[in-house]
Amino acid sequence: MVGLTHVRILLLAACAFSLCAQPVVLGPQIRAGAARVTLTPDLKKHGPVYMAGFGNNRVATGMHDNLYARCVALSAGGETVVLCGVDSIGLFLDDVERIRTDVKTQLTGGKKAFPEEVNVVVAATHDHQAPDTMGLWGPERGRSGINDAYMNLVAERVTQSAVTAVRTMQPALIKVGEAHPSDLDQLIHDDRPPEVLDAGVIVLQVTTPHGTPIATLVNWANHPETLGAQNTLITADYPFYLCTELERRFEGVAVFLNGAVGGMQSPLGATVIDKASGRPAAENTFQKAEIIGRSVAEIAGSAARNATPFNADHIEFHERLIQIPMSNKGFQLAAQSDVFKGRKKMTADGATVTPVGLVRLSAQGKAFLEIALIPGEMYPELSVGGVVRYSGADYPDAPVEPPIKNMMTAEFKMLVGLADDEIGYIIPKAEWDEKPPYLNGAEKPWYGEENSVGPEAAPLIALAFQQIVKGAGAGKN
Ligand SMILES: [Zn+2]
Repeated sequence: MVGLTHVRILLLAACAFSLCAQPVVLGPQIRAGAARVTLTPDLKKHGPVYMAGFGNNRVATGMHDNLYARCVALSAGGETVVLCGVDSIGLFLDDVERIRTDVKTQLTGGKKAFPEEVNVVVAATHDHQAPDTMGLWGPERGRSGINDAYMNLVAERVTQSAVTAVRTMQPALIKVGEAHPSDLDQLIHDDRPPEVLDAGVIVLQVTTPHGTPIATLVNWANHPETLGAQNTLITADYPFYLCTELERRFEGVAVFLNGAVGGMQSPLGATVIDKASGRPAAENTFQKAEIIGRSVAEIAGSAARNATPFNADHIEFHERLIQIPMSNKGFQLAAQSDVFKGRKKMTADGATVTPVGLVRLSAQGKAFLEIALIPGEMYPELSVGGVVRYSGADYPDAPVEPPIKNMMTAEFKMLVGLADDEIGYIIPKAEWDEKPPYLNGAEKPWYGEENSVGPEAAPLIALAFQQIVKGAGAGKN
């Protein structure tokens, strides 16, 4: 590093004499590290293991593949951001805060301060074939499915993965790419109008200065629930095939961060063609999950190969804690019956506390990648626009929230869902619909509201993000 710095100074000095418009900078200015650690449950020790995401009392009977916490750490200018993708239905802020504290304690060894600020982002992939880490899918309604010993294991393993990623950081080069071939959208079924997808694959790859991949981070939006409600084998669902395939193609760790999956973005109901037979893969099969995972890996792989390199020299992390009124009666009852086992305590005036965040990577004062951190399952029209005012809406005059991706100005934009919390669906207030008549003349209510904290979630999150973007000073060094 001393040698490189020396070269840089010489080049800058040479430029000053020759009046170069742009200083030439050689070599990496960021450091990166990555790690993956298993968090597969022990069916005896953690049993009965209630599987999350569909009905109550779906008890795991076996293992198909390992669950992982995969983390990439990026550092520049005294600031470190660790981005972790965790094979889990969702983790609450309470668990994320514990992980953040444990990471700091382990890095500092309880004595000397770590030389830089370390910010940890924990995003569940929303795996519907993993243990219940939210409590909602226990033996029966109102009885928690959370196993405390497994929750301890999850916290320890995510911490271990994040700490290892930080400790293994080395000088790195960074590139970012994006791809959105039309057949990508066929892997997703959107069962509630408007049909809006935020389905591009965005890839960040960090390599050693010699080009060996350290980590490949993929951001895409779809529910990992291909195996459906009857499966009882623990699996990471399509992210298993996606990450395994990327880790085979490239060295290093593949980190998957899910996107705006609300509204709702699902492989269930999507016609996914098996190229070998020319026929659609059967519903609820590992074959379908494999085709989806490998297809996205193929697209992500070519996006990584065609990605744009950036001379990254600056990383920012911003976060705001906000309070959202919790009007969902089911969530209120769950909180009262301690389904969440001490987590998600409501405030005195009935609100839930949740974070909204932003990670920004810049080169020479210009942001090239912004990552919105959204604490739940955002409807894609809140990310990219396209909110529709249907007849029957409960709040027909509600202002339309400014789309999250329109608020960001960097060349590449990611939206990470279930980031640092899981508050359920985040629905445009103008599309909120619990009371008849139902949207668009439907005979029964659309699915979504029963798994949302309430109609104020979207406007409050959009406002918080707007304040973060303004306060963070877009493009400022
Ligand atoms: Zn969901």
